Amino acid sequence: MAALPSVTRGRTALVVLQPTPFCNIDCRYCYLPDRSNRARMSSAVVRATFAALIDDGRLAETVEVLWHAGEPTALPISYYREAMAAIASLDAGATTLHHVFQTNATLLDDAWCDFIRDAGIGIGVSIDGPQPIHDAHRQQRNGGGTFEAVMRGIARLKARAIEFYCIAVVTDASADAPDALFDFFEALAPRHVCFVPEQIQGTNVTSSLDAADAKARFTRFLVRYLERIAATGSAQRIREIERMAGRIVKSAKGPVGSQLVEPFEIVTVDHQGRFSTFCPELATSRHPVHGDLALGNVLSGGMAQARNSAKLQALHAEIAAGVALCRDGCAYFDVCGGGAPSLKLAEHGRFDVAETQGCRLLYQAVADAVLQRLAGDVAAVSQITQ
Ligand code: SF4
Ligand code: SF4
Repeated sequence: MAALPSVTRGRTALVVLQPTPFCNIDCRYCYLPDRSNRARMSSAVVRATFAALIDDGRLAETVEVLWHAGEPTALPISYYREAMAAIASLDAGATTLHHVFQTNATLLDDAWCDFIRDAGIGIGVSIDGPQPIHDAHRQQRNGGGTFEAVMRGIARLKARAIEFYCIAVVTDASADAPDALFDFFEALAPRHVCFVPEQIQGTNVTSSLDAADAKARFTRFLVRYLERIAATGSAQRIREIERMAGRIVKSAKGPVGSQLVEPFEIVTVDHQGRFSTFCPELATSRHPVHGDLALGNVLSGGMAQARNSAKLQALHAEIAAGVALCRDGCAYFDVCGGGAPSLKLAEHGRFDVAETQGCRLLYQAVADAVLQRLAGDVAAVSQITQ
């Protein structure tokens, strides 16, 4: 699912590694096309990825290395010991790398949790809320729910005091249930929660939230959630709210950009070594004119070569044309920065367009919720932006 844009300028701050296309479960809204493929990224690809990034000379001071899409823990722990050793053998200079797994948590046994703790790996757990809401979409390959397996994994993390954050996909099953989700995450106590509305993306060609009232529903969801936080003195933190509040504050000095529309601020590498940029979701997308969106392979060419390629120039020009339309016609541009190219491609089949159903939820509804919450409650400013 597309992330909310954050701000970096010209440097690679997020490297998404897709170690395997395989996933052991079968979420109804998953956008990935090849989830039964058990292929894996070789150590040579892992090493070549970071050799190319280091050679490119534009790594940010702190880089998140996100192992994601399909399920990273479907590969053995020994795979990651070898992969991380290969990365650590390279000299990244002043850059600090921080490894993060985005996981469905169903395979987290004691050995995995010990490894995660000892290696200092960040953990994001995908869980949508209470069991009926979660199991409505996050299902086993046989159609059964995954909630109990996820909660067993979380219990093992908690038993070792491993901090984790949660990503909850908001669907038709939860959009009108902010109180149930608030109570659930209050008890679960993750470091923070990310609420990502279901999107039309990749193989997920429809969304349970694709309706005219979806923006108002998601805004109401967030406003109510914030009211519960304020009323109970909860310490819950919501990623989308915090980021948007920060962007609203910064926008007083001018439009806040988006790393999703700038080349190489995010780099995504698939298991074969094919790399792409802009939204990570583009790694598994196709464009009707440009075909697949890979810019090269780390085994046979570096980032510098890709930066000068005609393909990147063409993609960037089309994305920039879409951003220009956003700038000219959207009241949210200063806090959004032009949205997610992957959503534009998924919904309109091209990048040089502006509004999508996805952006109404991911950006517009979040901005509306922050502003509504702040409108009648100045004290909420510090609570939201803490
Ligand atoms: S856990 Fe993630 S990769 Fe696996 S099916 Fe669900 S959404 Fe897709
Ligand atoms: S139209 Fe959508 S993507 Fe474009 S600036 Fe507005 S909210 Fe962002």
